[in-house]
Amino acid sequence: MWPPFLFCRRLFVRRDVRVARAPSPAKATGRRKNAASGASRGSTGQTQQAPKGRNRLPAGSKTAKAYNPLAPDRISEILKRLDQLYPDVTCALTHTSAWELLVATILSAQSTDVNVNRVTPELFRKYPTVEAFAALSPEQLEPDVRSTGFFRNKSKSVVGAAKKVVAEFGGQVPLNMAELLTLPGVARKTANVVLGSWFKIAEGVVVDTHVHRISRRLELAKNSEPQKIEQDLMRVIPREKWILFAHQIIWHGRKLCIARKPKCVDCLLENICHAADKTWSTVEMHKNAKA
Ligand code: SF4
Repeated sequence: MWPPFLFCRRLFVRRDVRVARAPSPAKATGRRKNAASGASRGSTGQTQQAPKGRNRLPAGSKTAKAYNPLAPDRISEILKRLDQLYPDVTCALTHTSAWELLVATILSAQSTDVNVNRVTPELFRKYPTVEAFAALSPEQLEPDVRSTGFFRNKSKSVVGAAKKVVAEFGGQVPLNMAELLTLPGVARKTANVVLGSWFKIAEGVVVDTHVHRISRRLELAKNSEPQKIEQDLMRVIPREKWILFAHQIIWHGRKLCIARKPKCVDCLLENICHAADKTWSTVEMHKNAKA
């Protein structure tokens, strides 16, 4: 029989709860790999969170109540870590001119860059100039771009854009947003890709499917329409970072922050990301922070 004071102690002393602690950024990847195979991750692979009330406070806040996802120090930290992860990334679409990049970007809608890069080398060999495209009918182009999907609309857009570039812009792709948006098949995303990647002009932020998803996961954007997301991002990301930021987020979306089952355990942004659909977490998750 235990003495009464020991019995009481067993009843009332709180047991220690193991909290998933956020590793420092420098050691994040290695530790998370260990964590992935160890006790911090559930055997089912389901998301595991630190117990309620024991979470680290989100970066950029003194109290959980004061948490501001757009706090300048949090934004700087996100940009710093993206620079560490993706220091020299550029556009993945193969191209050697503004026109080729414009065509490749139109073809990339609802397709993958890999798929487009399979098609464009032969396409640009067959039709080496914008004038060569302008001389086609959409039906003539269709077989060449069929494998990128939505080939009828894409053929119409490419041929229509070529005719307009030749007729109204002297065969040169215009280098401002207003004129680019007059081309068939060109919306802000395509215009931003061409302006940013070829002309190095930051008129906006490219919002493709990856930027759309990850901006919302990281709580950099609340809206769900691409144009509003772009405005959200333009407000919080410094202009000199607009071009690189979009490339980095697109690469992050391909490599780690994939749509289904993001690889959070390997992600350098993990302890400043509160996405609702994380697969592993050392910080509290926010139900509105989702793709
Ligand atoms: S922690 Fe997960 S959800 Fe957040 S950015 Fe990284 S991969 Fe995406």
